This record gives sequence, structure tokens and C-alpha cells, in this order.
Amino acid sequence: MNIILLAPPAAGKGTQAEILTDNYHLNHISTGDLLRSVSKEENDLGRNIKQMMESGSLVSDDIVLEVFNHYLEHTDNMNLLLDGFPRNIYQAEKLDEILKEKNSQIDYVFLFNISKEMLVDRITGRRLCESCGKVYNVNIDPLKPKIESTCDKCGGKLYARKDDNEETFNIRYNEYQTQTSPLITYYQNKGNLYEIDSSVSKEDTFRQIEEILGKR
Ligand code: AMP
Repeated sequence: MNIILLAPPAAGKGTQAEILTDNYHLNHISTGDLLRSVSKEENDLGRNIKQMMESGSLVSDDIVLEVFNHYLEHTDNMNLLLDGFPRNIYQAEKLDEILKEKNSQIDYVFLFNISKEMLVDRITGRRLCESCGKVYNVNIDPLKPKIESTCDKCGGKLYARKDDNEETFNIRYNEYQTQTSPLITYYQNKGNLYEIDSSVSKEDTFRQIEEILGKR
């Protein structure tokens, strides 16, 4: 089973990906996380990726596809949960080719619907664990860590992503509208797009996903 999470920034993809991987045997691939890890390398590629990510722009397709393919070559679990990939039509077409070669296809695309105002609220409160990557939100009571700045799961230190500010959010949101949202029609035409209301709690968001997964 292959799933894509299609959503504007801070709509809750990471949180739902975590719940989905806990409940199903899925291979969670976040191209954002993969790129963040390469961006720490002290070389031209690392510096280039870091600069693109911090500015809120999309990283070039060539780099993203290389990082994605490299990950796939080193993994056995082909039940993919794609978080943040594809981000445009070109990447979606390339993904179709990659899956076709493996006699596979995308089964579900979950489109997260949420207002821009709510996203701004979420983005300024988002915190991540620097050790295990667990996502928190200091503006939303049920998503706050039990101890300030400390991960409930592993005790790691929490940090705010550099691109989680209102100014960069606007650029990322624009990128989503212009580059990524055409994927809605792309997958609607393939008949595998499912709409989710992600303005509700993480549990209620997940219930909608489970209901759809249970139906087919
Ligand atoms: P995310 O963690 O999904 O919010 O992604 C953070 C940043 O990583 C984005 O703003 C882009 O700069 C970059 N990025 C992640 N995935 C992709 C992708 N599939 N294509 C291009 N850029 C990406």
C-alpha cells in the first residue's frame, strides 16, 4: 500500500505520518527530513539545500529525486508513506515511473484541508525533537510537551525550525498554491484523491483517514 500526504505547510502531515506508521507497517519518507539531513553536510550541496529550505522555496527536482531514489535503493519496505513528496507535477510523473518499474502504484492520496489563518497559528508554535523528530505545538494544549522544551518520548531537546516563521511561511504557502496544488486535479483524475478536514484534533483527523483506509 502506497500513500501520499498532500498538504500545505503545517497542516499536520508529520503528525499524521507518525500515527499512521505506528498503526500500519509503512515506510515513512519525508523528503523534508531527508533534505534537512543532507543540508547539515559541510559541502556545496549541503549549503545550497540549506539556503533553499530556509528561504521557503522548493529544492530543485534533480536534487530531491536523487535523495529520494537513494533512500529507496536502501530500503526493503515498499509500503510507502510519502510526506512532502511529490511537490509538483514533474515529481509526480517521475514517481509514477519509479513505482511502475516496481509494479506498484499510489493507492491513496490524502488531501488535508485547512484555512490559511489556522496554519499561521500552528506554524509559530511548532517544535520538533532534535533527537527523534517528534512534533509538538506549544500553541495547542493537547500537543504541548509535558516538560517545557523537552521531548515526552525520548527526553531530547525541542527546537523551532528556521523556516517556521510567518514571513517564510507565506513563501512556502505560495509555493504550495502554485507548484503543489495542481496535484489535486492530477490525482483526482486518477481517482485516488481523498479529502480530509485537518482543522480538527489529530485524533479526529486520523479517524477520517482510518475510515477511508477501512472502506477499500
Ligand atoms: P517539509 O518538511 O515537507 O515542510 O519541507 C521543508 C522544505 O524542504 C520545503 O519548504 C522545501 O524547501 C524542501 N522540500 C521538501 N520536500 C520537497 C520536495 N518534494 N520538492 C522540493 N522541495 C522540497
